[in-house]
Amino acid sequence: MDNRVIFNKEIIRRYDTFGPRYTSYPTAVQFSTDYDVDDYKGWIKVSNEDLIPAPLSLYLHIPFCDTICYYCGCSKVITKDKSKATHYIELLKQEIKLQGALFANDRKVTQIHWGGGTPTFLNDKEIYEIIECIRENFQVPADGTVEFGIEVDPRTVDQQRLKNLNNLGFNRISFGVQDFDHCVQKSVNRVQSTQQIKQHIDDARALKYQSINIDLMYGLPNQTVYSFLQTLNTTIELNPDRIAVYNYAHLPEMFKPQRRINEDELPSAEEKLNILQLCVDKLQDAGYAYIGMDHFAKETDSLVKAQREGSLQRNFQGYSTNANCDIIAMGITAIGRIGDNYSQNVRTIDEYENLLNEGIIPIFRGIELEDDDILRREIINQLMCNNKLDIRKIEKKWGIDFKTYFKSSLDNLQKMATDGLLEIEKSNLTITNTGRLLTRSICMQFDRYLQKKNNKQFSRVI
Ligand code: SF4
Repeated sequence: MDNRVIFNKEIIRRYDTFGPRYTSYPTAVQFSTDYDVDDYKGWIKVSNEDLIPAPLSLYLHIPFCDTICYYCGCSKVITKDKSKATHYIELLKQEIKLQGALFANDRKVTQIHWGGGTPTFLNDKEIYEIIECIRENFQVPADGTVEFGIEVDPRTVDQQRLKNLNNLGFNRISFGVQDFDHCVQKSVNRVQSTQQIKQHIDDARALKYQSINIDLMYGLPNQTVYSFLQTLNTTIELNPDRIAVYNYAHLPEMFKPQRRINEDELPSAEEKLNILQLCVDKLQDAGYAYIGMDHFAKETDSLVKAQREGSLQRNFQGYSTNANCDIIAMGITAIGRIGDNYSQNVRTIDEYENLLNEGIIPIFRGIELEDDDILRREIINQLMCNNKLDIRKIEKKWGIDFKTYFKSSLDNLQKMATDGLLEIEKSNLTITNTGRLLTRSICMQFDRYLQKKNNKQFSRVI
């Protein structure tokens, strides 16, 4: 592979800092409560009137989990009481109806993603009800072309459930594994057997799910290079289409569950870096391409194809091949994007209920992008997805002199270029194979908001 990422420990140490993951630009920190539901509706109207309206991608947030994972930094509700979901489902259906009514009939859905929390906290009948509601209120083609994905906690499914989900239309599945090592699993309160996960993957493959993903996490307590090597060997043996390897960010002051992690058991910064190096080398040796930002995919996967063709996108679900969709996000905390706007739903079920009971779409903040934001978003997206920026194209499209407009960014990047992270030419900016693990640090130089902020609200780049 000529695009093989080079792991340079010294360089990584030098540039490892705190920064956004750029699932949006500007990031959610910039969202304002001045943005309200009327703004949201107004922009949907505008988007409906586009000559060729953007297709729709739906995101549904199911916040429930029945046990807590100590590393968790997500927005969730921990409960063993399944009836709590019943009420939430009714609310979610109300939101689906309200949202669906805003979109013109030619707005086809091309992607549906269920995330959480734990979507499979719901039983199959409840999931069916929501899907039916989606089908009644949005234009969802029934020809199998919709990318239909779900995040699955392996402890909540069996062969029959995987079959039912597949029958309900799901064709992409992502298993939250984190680590196969029992000792690591125990220390984060997420014990799940390797045998069970292997069986799920076999079943999903037999059911012909089009894409199977495994999520791993490095930096967890009791992880060592040796223990993670076993986890990687097992993962590679299972042969998923995609693998995400997330960096555990230990921020107990921000995330309460993390206070239950024994800090003495956390790997040292050096060990953590060695584990990351192992991941990068081992997965590439096994034939996985590094897409960027924690994500690896088989050479035959659509993400790799999209990256080669320059059509890869970055959004709240990570990387996506669905270019230019408007994202309608439903459920508490969910973040959507309509054209050049982002909006976010309220954070608690009580607030969600109160607004929906009044027939109001439960948005509490958002942002309308200025031209400068859109320009910088385009640059960050290109760097995150293509590892390259065509300066001439940007200048032509935006009518700017790149060198003048981004003088301070280029000044900052010069040192990175000297260190071999990127090549700066007159018409191109190219991230080198050494710089790819530090793409976030490079993108941060184009983020005009970061200069004013305390970056510690973001996770570490590595
Ligand atoms: S990590 Fe996932 S499954 Fe675990 S508590 Fe958090 S949201 Fe729930």
